[in-house]
Amino acid sequence: MHIPIIRPVLGDEELENVRECLASGYLTQGKFVARFEQSVADYLTCRHAVAVTSGTAALHLALLALSIGPGDEVVVPSLTWVATANAVSYVGATPVFADVRPETFTLDPEDLARALTPQTRAVIAVHLFGLCADMDEIRRMAAERDLFVVEDAACALGSSYQGRPAGTLGHVGCFSFHPRKVITTGEGGMLTTADDGLAAALRELRNHGCSPMPAGSPPWAMPDVPRCGYNYRLTDIQGAVGCAQMEKIDAILAERARLAGVYTELLAASPLILPAVPDDRVHSWQSYVVRFRSTAARNAAAERLAAADIECRPGTHAAHRLRWQAAHAARTDCCPGAALCEDTSLVLPLVHGMPREDQARVAALLCQD
Ligand SMILES: *Cc1c(COP(=O)(O)O)cnc(C)c1O
Repeated sequence: MHIPIIRPVLGDEELENVRECLASGYLTQGKFVARFEQSVADYLTCRHAVAVTSGTAALHLALLALSIGPGDEVVVPSLTWVATANAVSYVGATPVFADVRPETFTLDPEDLARALTPQTRAVIAVHLFGLCADMDEIRRMAAERDLFVVEDAACALGSSYQGRPAGTLGHVGCFSFHPRKVITTGEGGMLTTADDGLAAALRELRNHGCSPMPAGSPPWAMPDVPRCGYNYRLTDIQGAVGCAQMEKIDAILAERARLAGVYTELLAASPLILPAVPDDRVHSWQSYVVRFRSTAARNAAAERLAAADIECRPGTHAAHRLRWQAAHAARTDCCPGAALCEDTSLVLPLVHGMPREDQARVAALLCQD
């Protein structure tokens, strides 16, 4: 029986909302998107939530709204989905890769210190797989040099750090609602910020750069377009799905934590290196990622899972080894931690309602040799 890595938790609630949206005839950024934004803002106790078409669009607009551009450097952990570094390229800035700590898969503050230059304007802290980065040290270093902290919280809806939700730990947070994430709208994203000016800029940028029409504007008035923006509006159909997903988020997170606990118990005596969760953090378990002692052992286990029709894949890229390598020759021998993680990691299936026998089957296949 096929076991996917993740399966979205969708039901009649999503269908009912989509039906209502379609019946209304109002299909893009409308009342469902506004409700979805409010529910995310309330959930995170965050002042502003701004919906966009994807997590990547969120990262792009975050950097634009912070006026980061050509000549600027942005530090990005090497171990991340390529979107994090691509977004830096979108605005003409240069991504500078820093290493991660393999134990947590998140940015190593010591390597961040080495990556900083007079051109550095921002750090993107990636809460990879749903575990928050070491935000105290990152924020302290950023404050000393007046750098912006952007959270790539694509995996981290429901994660927290010292009791504070991911998405409220930096100047701006970026979430994704791709089907691989904690909740989904098919494609979709959200920016979060406490800064009124930043929120206003983000709302303009996602809507072609149009400034909002003041209440009571005459019927012949047109919006001003003070800057070049994009069409990154989420559809109300997606917003309708998102509203229903937010009603379920506590149940989804509880189930993911339960399944993660079962893997940790089943694999406790195995030679695998299990995901660490520092005491001051709550993990969303967007992905449950284990590390092997060698690439050969990882690849053999992946082959056994694939043969049993069980999906798995490496954690993610060590992005410094991709197309940026030439431009960063000086640092390409760096980020050994990220390289190790790409070469020895595996994401295990974590499917809502997954029976314990399936998890036991995965665990047995992982450790056959
Ligand atoms: C998924 C993901 C993104 C991109 O989100 P999309 O919605 O797919 O554009 C960015 N960064 C990280 C760490 C991710 O996991």
